[in-house]
Amino acid sequence: MPFPEPPNLAYATSSLRPAPSDLDPALRDVVEYRKSGLSLNHIVGCPLDCGYCVRHLFGNYEMKRPHLVMPDADAVDRLTAHPYFVRDKTPIQIFNRATDPFLPRVKDHLFATLQLLDRQGFKNHVLVITRWKIMEADVARLEALCNLKVTVLVTWSGITDPRIEPIDSGVASETLRTLQSSKRRTRSVLYWRPIVAGLNDDRARIEQAQHLAQLADACVFTGLFHREEIRDYLRSAGVSDLYDDVARRKILPQDLERRILDGFGTGENAIPLFRKTSCAVAYAHGLPDYNGHYGIPAICDICPAAQVGRCSDAHRNPSRTEIERWIHRVGLNPDGTVMASGHLTVTGSTEQQRYAIQHATGFQVHDRSHPHLEGRHGRAEQGWGT
Ligand code: SF4
Repeated sequence: MPFPEPPNLAYATSSLRPAPSDLDPALRDVVEYRKSGLSLNHIVGCPLDCGYCVRHLFGNYEMKRPHLVMPDADAVDRLTAHPYFVRDKTPIQIFNRATDPFLPRVKDHLFATLQLLDRQGFKNHVLVITRWKIMEADVARLEALCNLKVTVLVTWSGITDPRIEPIDSGVASETLRTLQSSKRRTRSVLYWRPIVAGLNDDRARIEQAQHLAQLADACVFTGLFHREEIRDYLRSAGVSDLYDDVARRKILPQDLERRILDGFGTGENAIPLFRKTSCAVAYAHGLPDYNGHYGIPAICDICPAAQVGRCSDAHRNPSRTEIERWIHRVGLNPDGTVMASGHLTVTGSTEQQRYAIQHATGFQVHDRSHPHLEGRHGRAEQGWGT
């Protein structure tokens, strides 16, 4: 079957309004490197009102209508021309910062963007995170792709307070069922988040997550980004503080993680559960983790044996030449670089510089100022011993 031409969703033909000229410059910068991949965000604005949305950090939460920052073709050109983009390797995320990719009209741009990438033969992972409804016709559009490795991450929290979580739980289960019954090459992940101690971590919610996880190819669980801007918004909505302090990393206390792991159980018949998004995505495709978490063994102690085998087979220390090439390419100081067991430590780096090296080499890269603490799995310190 001939592959259809992507529609030309430029400003003139899109049903979305162009973004206003006073849009925050950070949001005009449509390509951003995040841990799960190079993130493309050329639509800004969302009506879904999730209280914990990262748009609070950009002062953009009040923009309820999605707006187009640039046409899809220009955005794809920027993505693939990014200095750290590596064909077939760099994981990509689409519309995960400032809108939901499956909103009406936004999804036309999602499919056009995917087609533009797919037509160029790219085989990169693409992560699409949604909390909105996916229809059978949407799955058919994803299934028409030939090259990209697409994973749909379906967000579900089980939170029932509409000031924090306005989306009904039923949306995620419906979407997961639709995906389960109509996908073949697309993969699905239950993205169980944000889990907040004392709010949505009871036995019934853990059982509900288990039930939903069985509709997906994998399940990843994570905590809350409790940044100052998000806390301030929730206060203004009349919500008591969810944690005493704000934190740079996501908060997921140790005893909460323990209860989740106990609830899901272990052994061959346990439902596959992951601490890291890239691990769940990789497992869903039968591939090793692209973030090299295998170098931090404590992260892998809940992973299915077959997947541990895949990651073990793929894991290797990058050569000195390879490291030097990437240190030079991202502009880091080679003197501050130290190779340790399972990870590389660099100095004075940005997240973007670290993730570029990490994704290119499949090896963990940490900054000296934010060391990985053994057994804490990259969570914030709240709820963990010293
Ligand atoms: S073995 Fe470790 S690195 Fe690989 S997917 Fe499992 S948890 Fe992730």
